[in-house]
Amino acid sequence: MATPDAGTAAAGPGSDPVARSRWVLARCAQHGFALAGIADAGPSSRAEEYRAWIDAGRHGAMAYLAEQVDRRLDPRVLVPGARSVLCVADRYADGRPDRRVPGVGRIGRYARGEDYHVVIRARLEALAEELLEAYPGERFRVCVDTAPLLEREHAERAGLGRIGKHSLLIGPRGMGSWLVLGALVSTVELAPVRADGGMPGGATVDADPCGACTRCIDACPTDAIVPWSVDASRCVSALTIEDRGTAAEWFAGRTEDWLFGCDACQEACPHSQPTVRSRRVATHEAYRAHRTGFPLLEVLGWTEDDWEAAQLNGVLRRAGHAMWRRNAALAAGSVLVDRASPAEVRDALGAQLSVVALNPSETPEVRAAARASLRLV
Ligand code: SF4
Ligand code: SF4
Repeated sequence: MATPDAGTAAAGPGSDPVARSRWVLARCAQHGFALAGIADAGPSSRAEEYRAWIDAGRHGAMAYLAEQVDRRLDPRVLVPGARSVLCVADRYADGRPDRRVPGVGRIGRYARGEDYHVVIRARLEALAEELLEAYPGERFRVCVDTAPLLEREHAERAGLGRIGKHSLLIGPRGMGSWLVLGALVSTVELAPVRADGGMPGGATVDADPCGACTRCIDACPTDAIVPWSVDASRCVSALTIEDRGTAAEWFAGRTEDWLFGCDACQEACPHSQPTVRSRRVATHEAYRAHRTGFPLLEVLGWTEDDWEAAQLNGVLRRAGHAMWRRNAALAAGSVLVDRASPAEVRDALGAQLSVVALNPSETPEVRAAARASLRLV
């Protein structure tokens, strides 16, 4: 292979891993990623904690997290011969507070625009093709949430930010944790280069972004957080996105106004606030919100056809028709117990919950959620 010209898309520098890395990161910038860095493809340094988390059942309904654990903990098992993990991030929000409307359920900010799996995957696949052209015979695997890879840990190693007590990655320059991640595991030898500009060992982001702060822990409506670990079996986000079954009764009245996802820990974090500095960092256009939520009364009344007609993106369709209605029934419970909500909103939701709870042909998980919410009043 001729020594490629670093200035062209289809050719990377030949033999120097540092020059290769600089070229790859320049390509990432051209593909519009807010952050990009390179970590070595070494195993997780948190394997013991991960296994203990799984053994304690803290993965909740996400059974897949307990599968392929060896692969998840070591990219060289995922991609034999892997030598590098290119980590990228898009910023999807700036933390501006939502306009809250009584009786309207909210969607987590990451899911309000286009499906980030599609948005990130398309660019990482294009990048993988460019790299394959430059380095024929090498292997590449694009990972955007669905592959067994601890993307957050690799991203931290690649200098994209630091993981906070809420277990999310907090980016530099006021980006907060409003970040979606992707990775490209490859057999190409790339020198580890951190997104914050240094080489590994010369970290320039704060070693601990949290200090004595406990705001996310205090803000979590279901007490799901202990420092640097989230119990997914208690997490509203995990419940409303991943859990297809009947929710534990104690969730009723505690899911606040979250219909799909939950941003409460991020909204509370000082790093994720909309400051002058943070507003200087652009959010990616693809995540501009199509909508921020739905009226709970409307969702409770959805037929399958209505759910289809709502034209949910790929992320939002992860929750099926019954899950959306179950989530709405739980969120309605939070309205019923909130005395600040207008009486007419509480009355209308209470009446609809009664219809659902008394209907013997209703889907069991929706009916159970409606009953649990009604028991609160
Ligand atoms: S997403 Fe919500 S429920 Fe889950 S840990 Fe954060 S604040 Fe708690
Ligand atoms: S809210 Fe405080 S404790 Fe939680 S992640 Fe942010 S800085 Fe850390």
